[in-house]
Amino acid sequence: MRVAVIGRGLIGSAAARHLARAGQDVVLIGPDEPQGKASHRGVFASHYDEGRITRGLDPAPFWSRVSRASIARYAEIEAASGIRFYTERGVVMAGPEGSAPMDRIGEVAVRDGVPHARLDDAGLAARFGYFRFDRGTCAFHQTLEAGFISPRRLVAAQGVAAERAGAHLLRATVEAVEEDGQGVRIRSEIGETRVDRVLIAAGGYTNTLLSAPLPLTVMARTVGFFEVDEGEAARFHAMPPLIYLHPHGDGPYLLPPIRYPDGRFYLKMGGDPVDRVLGSGDEISDWFRSGGDPAVAAGLEEQLRDRMPDLTIRGVSHMACVTTFTPEDEARIERVSDRVGVATAGCGRGAKCSDELGRLGACLITDGVIGDTPAMV
Ligand SMILES: Cc1cc2nc3c(=O)[nH]c(=O)nc-3n(C[C@H](O)[C@H](O)[C@H](O)COP(=O)(O)OP(=O)(O)OC[C@H]3O[C@@H](n4cnc5c(N)ncnc54)[C@H](O)[C@@H]3O)c2cc1C
Repeated sequence: MRVAVIGRGLIGSAAARHLARAGQDVVLIGPDEPQGKASHRGVFASHYDEGRITRGLDPAPFWSRVSRASIARYAEIEAASGIRFYTERGVVMAGPEGSAPMDRIGEVAVRDGVPHARLDDAGLAARFGYFRFDRGTCAFHQTLEAGFISPRRLVAAQGVAAERAGAHLLRATVEAVEEDGQGVRIRSEIGETRVDRVLIAAGGYTNTLLSAPLPLTVMARTVGFFEVDEGEAARFHAMPPLIYLHPHGDGPYLLPPIRYPDGRFYLKMGGDPVDRVLGSGDEISDWFRSGGDPAVAAGLEEQLRDRMPDLTIRGVSHMACVTTFTPEDEARIERVSDRVGVATAGCGRGAKCSDELGRLGACLITDGVIGDTPAMV
C-alpha cells in the first residue's frame, strides 16, 4: 500500500518511520525549516528550537502513558539514525501542596509506577537551592527517563531512520488533498502525488488541509530565551527542567541552559498568561512571522528573575510558536474518511511523546484502528 504522511514535524516523521518499518511504501511530505522566518511566506512548525521537556510524570494518564512509551524508544531512534537528541537530566514538577494538579500527578505516578521522589519546602531548598519557591510548595522529582530533547534533532533523527527503513522524502508544501475512486491525489508546488491513503500530521495547519474542519484550537504562544555565559551554563549544568503548576493547572515551564546552533547558551521559558486563538492558516503564519508578544516575554523574564534570583542573564529575546488543542485535551488520531486520517494536537505536550503518537497514527492509517498504548510499568 502506498501511504503519504503530510507534515515532516515531530508526529509525522515518527509515523513515517513506523510505517516504513512495517513494510509500507511511504512518502513523507513537508518543507524544511524556513530560513529567515520574518519574510517566509509558507507554513511554519512548532519545533524550531532546541529544548522540549520530556517526562513520564503527568497529571493525565493518557499523556503519561504515551510519553513513557516514546521515551522507552529514544535509544532505538538514536541508534537507527545516528543522531542524538535526548539529554537525561530529570524533571521537577512543582506546585502548591494539596492542589488538584499535584494530587493528580501523584495518583498517576503511583498507579502507573513512575519512579519519583516527593519533595517538600525543606527538600526543595536542600536539592534545588537555586530555585526560589513560595512556602507550601511541593514537588515531584523524576530523575531517570526524563530531561529534555532537541525537537529539531528528533525530527531529523526520525527522518533519517524513516529513510533508512525505506521511506521517501518529498520537500514540498501540500496545497490540496483530493480523494477520488482510485485513491488520493496530493497537490503541492512541485506537482501531484497519488497514494492509496494519507495521514495528515501538519500540526497547527492540519485543518487547512481538511474539507471539514476538526474541533482543533490553535493557540498563539510566546517563548522567552535568556542567554547566559559559559560560566553560568557550567554552574547550572545539573539543573533539570522545571514545570510549575498553578492550582488551575497551567503554569510556566523552564528549561536549563542549552547550547543553540549559534554556539550560545539559553534558558528557555514559556507560559502565556492568556490564550489567544488563531483561526486560519494565514493567521497562524502571521503569528509566527510576528516573532511573539513582547509583553508576554517581559512577564516571563520577571518570573524567571523571581524564580532564579541568582542567575546572571546577559541577553533576552523571544519567539512565536503555536500549540494545538482538542476539547478532550488528548491528541486527535482519527480517520476522517476511508483513505484519510489525522495525527495531530500535541496539546502543548506532544514533542516528548511524538514517537508513540506517530505509531498510533501509523496503525490508524493501515489498520483502521489505533489500538492501545501498551501499559508501561
Ligand atoms: C513553545 C512551545 C513549547 C513546547 N514545549 C513542549 C515541551 O516541553 N514538551 C513537549 O512534549 N511538548 C512541548 N510542546 C509541544 C510540541 O512542540 C508540539 O506538540 C509538537 O511540536 C507537535 O508536533 P506536530 O508534529 O503535531 O507539529 P509540528 O512539529 O508543528 O509539525 C507539523 C509539520 O507539518 C508541516 N506542515 C504544515 N502544513 C503543511 C502543508 N500544507 N504541507 C506539508 N507540510 C505541512 C510543518 O512544516 C511541520 O513540519 C511545546 C510547544 C510549543 C509551541
